[in-house]
Amino acid sequence: MLTIKNYGSDSLASGIKKAASIASRALSRGKPQHAQWLVTRKCNYRCVGCNVWKEQDERELSATEIKKGMDILKKVGVVELVISGGDPLLRPDIDEIIDYATDRFITTVYDNGSMAAKKADALHKADFVAISIDSLDEAKNDAIKAVPGAFKKAMETVEYLHHEGIKVAVTPTISQKNLNEIVDITNYFTGKDIPVWYCLYSYDTSRDSNQLFRIGKANDEFVITDKKGMVDLCNRLIELQKKNKKILMTAKLMEAVRDLYNEEEKRDWKCHALQNFLVIDHLGRISGCHHHNYVCSVFDLPAKWNSTEFQNLRSFYHDCSQCNYLCYIAYSIYSGPRGYAALAKDQWRNARMLLR
Ligand code: SF4
Ligand code: SF4
Repeated sequence: MLTIKNYGSDSLASGIKKAASIASRALSRGKPQHAQWLVTRKCNYRCVGCNVWKEQDERELSATEIKKGMDILKKVGVVELVISGGDPLLRPDIDEIIDYATDRFITTVYDNGSMAAKKADALHKADFVAISIDSLDEAKNDAIKAVPGAFKKAMETVEYLHHEGIKVAVTPTISQKNLNEIVDITNYFTGKDIPVWYCLYSYDTSRDSNQLFRIGKANDEFVITDKKGMVDLCNRLIELQKKNKKILMTAKLMEAVRDLYNEEEKRDWKCHALQNFLVIDHLGRISGCHHHNYVCSVFDLPAKWNSTEFQNLRSFYHDCSQCNYLCYIAYSIYSGPRGYAALAKDQWRNARMLLR
């Protein structure tokens, strides 16, 4: 998720220290400013468009190793850390991980809605807690998650976190299944003062067995076939976002997505994998994005970052157009200090909080 967020529950002094450190990293050149760390491969849900639950892995790094990895990420310039999985909140030591992350990064924690209420104490320090809800129709949402009761639990979780002052947001995944509901979902939650941003249904097209890991699973029902409907939706969200500041997607990003679904299928940006962003799996292995094989361990990142090997990989990724994962598009569009400046312009209110 790409947005500059404010800090609520940190003490003033540590908040200022963190903001100063982040602002300095955000304005540095040639750094991997965004990282997604999938700290576990375990999940308690069975979502129809996802592969993770089918390919779970008991192995994962310890909290101590993850903290060491986070020190390295900070050293190489990471500003924003997304903690994801599986469901990261299933880890018994997640409190320790979140606490460490939030002192160093703009931190977003993902949850499928089943765990966050139980982990509220740990989540108070997170800059955002993203809960996935794909429909306001209970039966439909539960069918997408393939877990009876998922909707009720997620709705209760969102209400509870919001009531507790935790910075919760709702993140529907836009697909053919809910294309016509996205505006309603957006209005429903933003009307309750709860921010919304989106994921975009995408699946892994690579047949490379060395791909770092697989997330998306091909499902014909989810693939957006109503391209005009998608273009219209993007246009509506662009308009809505002008007056609804709880929609945490920039106009620039929605325009880029809209252009993908236009007749020309325009894609006029270059991928910045392993340049502006990287992903880390549950074993601490790094790749530019999850579609490609891992290139090193997080612990070797400082030695590798300026290597010829990495420069060659960046050139390769630069010309890749293999996926439409929305976060990767966002990280590519908003890259480097210029990207942050453009983002600050788009999200001036949030940026002002950070720079204050
Ligand atoms: S989409 Fe998320 S919650 Fe659903 S099965 Fe995959 S990892 Fe679990
Ligand atoms: S476009 Fe970028 S993020 Fe997507 S598969 Fe290619 S290198 Fe990875």
